[in-house]
Amino acid sequence: ESEKNIMRGVLSLKMKKVRDIMTNLIDVFMLETDRVVDDELVLTVHGYGYSRIPVYENQRDNIIGLVNIRDFALLDTESGKFTVRSLMNFYNHRYGKVIMSDDSCYDVFNKLKKEQYHMGVVVEHDNSSEKDPKVKAVGIVTLEDIIEEMIQEE
Ligand code: ATP
Ligand code: ATP
Repeated sequence: ESEKNIMRGVLSLKMKKVRDIMTNLIDVFMLETDRVVDDELVLTVHGYGYSRIPVYENQRDNIIGLVNIRDFALLDTESGKFTVRSLMNFYNHRYGKVIMSDDSCYDVFNKLKKEQYHMGVVVEHDNSSEKDPKVKAVGIVTLEDIIEEMIQEE
C-alpha cells in the first residue's frame, strides 16, 4: 500500500510542472536590497518566520539573492550601517537561481537535491524585453513543497 503511494507520488512529480506547486511571487515575503536593517525590519522578519528570504532589486520579479533569518542575529542595528545587500553579500547563501516554470517537479527535485539547494527561484522568459533574452521570477519552490506533493495522500 505504502509502496503504491510512493509510486503514485513519483508519477505525479513527473506529470506536474513546478509552476503548479510553487509559491507564487505575490505570496513570497522578500526584501528590497537597499533596505537598511533596523529593529523594525528584524521584527518583521521574525514575524514572518521564514528561514529563507529572497532579495530583490527594483522590481519584485528581479530576485538577486537570498538572506537567512539567522543572518539577522547579533547584528548592530543602531549603527544603520547594514543593508539587506550587505548581509546578502556577506553570507552568500546558495540557492537555485534559474528554475524554469515548466520543468517537471521530478526534474526540479533532482536538481535541488544534486546541488544541495533548499530553495529555488522559479522563472519565466520575459517577452517584454526584446533585446537580450531575460527571465523574470514568478515564484519560489523549496524541497518542502516537492516532498509535500510526493507524500500527499488521496
Ligand atoms: P525551514 O523549514 O527550513 O525552516 P521554512 O519553514 O521557512 O524553512 P520551507 O519549509 O522551506 O520554509 O517551506 C514551507 C513553505 O513556505 C513552502 O510552501 C515554501 O514555498 C514557503 N516559503 C518559504 N519561504 C518563503 C518566503 N520567504 N515567503 C513565502 N513563502 C515561503
Ligand atoms: P538550514 O537553514 O536548514 O540550516 P542551510 O541554510 O545551512 O540550511 P540550505 O539553505 O538548506 O542550508 O542549503 C544549502 C546547502 O548548503 C545545504 O543543503 C547543505 O548541503 C550545505 N550546507 C549547509 N551547511 C553546511 C555546512 N556547515 N557545511 C557544508 N555544507 C553545508
